[in-house]
Amino acid sequence: MSAFIFGFHHLQVLSGNPKITAVGRAIRTRSGHQRPEAIGTRSGPQRPKALSAKQPCAAGHQRLNNSANITSAKTKATAHTIPNQGASQPMPTLIITYLFLLGLALGSFYNVVALRVPAGQSVIHPPSRCGSCGTRLRTRDLIPVFSWLLAKGRCRHCGVPVSWLYPLGEAATGLLFVWTYLRFGLSGEGMLGLLLASLAVIVTISDLHSMLVPNKVLLAFLPLLAAMTFSVTDQPWWSHVLGAVAGGGILLVLVLLGGMGMGDAKLFALFGGVIGFPGVILAFLAACLLGTLIGGGLRLAGSIGRRQPIPFAPCLAAGTLLTWGYGSQIISGYLSLIG
Ligand SMILES: [Zn+2]
Repeated sequence: MSAFIFGFHHLQVLSGNPKITAVGRAIRTRSGHQRPEAIGTRSGPQRPKALSAKQPCAAGHQRLNNSANITSAKTKATAHTIPNQGASQPMPTLIITYLFLLGLALGSFYNVVALRVPAGQSVIHPPSRCGSCGTRLRTRDLIPVFSWLLAKGRCRHCGVPVSWLYPLGEAATGLLFVWTYLRFGLSGEGMLGLLLASLAVIVTISDLHSMLVPNKVLLAFLPLLAAMTFSVTDQPWWSHVLGAVAGGGILLVLVLLGGMGMGDAKLFALFGGVIGFPGVILAFLAACLLGTLIGGGLRLAGSIGRRQPIPFAPCLAAGTLLTWGYGSQIISGYLSLIG
């Protein structure tokens, strides 16, 4: 429970931190998804420069560099190198470590949301217990990933196996948070990326566990995603509306044809609204490719029957995150290939 409280507390801190949002807006450019800062974070040599602009002291730091350039030609070289390197080197590691731990803690809470909400249970009460023997879990049972690994995936009290979905949700959230930071830095897009990753993890765990995408979860994320989308992305408003209509519409056709749930359609309308049009088409194609590969692999391995459906929300979430991170590069690369 303490891990959940820790996570929830940080969720509030993170989402309400005006400093991070302000810095994000300060470094935001108007060049679509191909921001120099964001792209720079993916390659070694550009990284110190990119990350230095994302520190909480970015504005002051910039002034320091400017004044050094203007007032002292002799110190020009050192002003460019020493302050950047000296100030920025520890920060990425610290931020990555913090975001990974935050992701682990929030992932623990997301597991609770993903497993309890479809069952109509409260996410706060009762405290976490072993599903088999009913023993209330203590702090050392609730350390994300590590408790599960140390206990070899079993309850410490009764020895019954504990689902691998728990460490999966926790580790996935931690890793996705780090990826979001490396891709977008502490920017508005980065914040929106954390929200998208959070929804992706919750619906993935929920769909894998109970083949459901809970309405309550979608409704909780809808206002947050809508507000963030319209305040940080550069696409026109109609692109997001078209993305939502196309995403929901395509999935609705599949629902009517059978084999897909309404939860998937509502989820993809929400994802489509965030990534907009034409990104939503790329996300759908990526989800179908992933679903075909995973479904085909499981059928070949004999893990599922020939006509047994597989949860599609994880594929939609993965396609959406792929498009969110690299959609403009993939689309422009494809267009240059055919044209
Ligand atoms: Zn037990």
